[in-house]
Amino acid sequence: MITMDRTGFKAALVAAAEAVVASKDVLTRADQAIGDGDHGIGMARGFRAFADALAKLDDAGASACLQAGGKALMMTGGGASGAIFGTFYTASGNALEAEAEPDPTALAAAFAAGLQAVKDRGRAKAGDKTMIDAAEPAIAALAQQQGALPAALEAMAAAARSGMEATRDMVATTGKARALGERSLGHPDPGAMTFTIFCEALARGLR
Ligand code: ADP
Ligand code: MG
Ligand code: MG
Repeated sequence: MITMDRTGFKAALVAAAEAVVASKDVLTRADQAIGDGDHGIGMARGFRAFADALAKLDDAGASACLQAGGKALMMTGGGASGAIFGTFYTASGNALEAEAEPDPTALAAAFAAGLQAVKDRGRAKAGDKTMIDAAEPAIAALAQQQGALPAALEAMAAAARSGMEATRDMVATTGKARALGERSLGHPDPGAMTFTIFCEALARGLR
């Protein structure tokens, strides 16, 4: 198992959060198409707070970083996504051993716990056209990886992107887009886009 030093992982998490912040307008347009248009604003605010919380941590491991980022996101993000993404990172951090250095297997197990917490909290499942449709295949892909973390996270990001693309063909059954029914077809889910952007930038940040 090839691990990653803690400073490098924290910096990559900050870069990933900042990539979501920089995607505010794209996410706004995505939520204007099938929701109420506030996803970009909420996620930009929430992931700004995520990055700032990590910047304040001194020599923190992956567990503490994910916990602090998730808590900040939960407190500032607002909307369904603030609670959903806040829960994801917080529960992922809680599931990682405090001093563990992240390797693909440990991270996949932690993210799987984060996803389970999201499902417990929001009661959505795969196929409902939510961030779960990006996160579930992404975490499954990460769990298959054994080598170095950067390559493993690239595989995770690729699976997140295809999961997100597949949400175009789903009719929303939960959240704001549910009211649109069939008219949500053709549009990707905004939260799935956020998850994908985060994964892609995390992988880039470790390269
Ligand atoms: P709101 O719907 O309150 O305006 P946002 O627009 O910020 O919140 O976020 C919408 C996104 O949140 C959706 O695109 C979806 O990915 C995610 N989401 C909403 N409800 C759930 C849920 N129950 N489980 C998982 N993700 C959800
Ligand atoms: Mg919205
Ligand atoms: Mg809203």
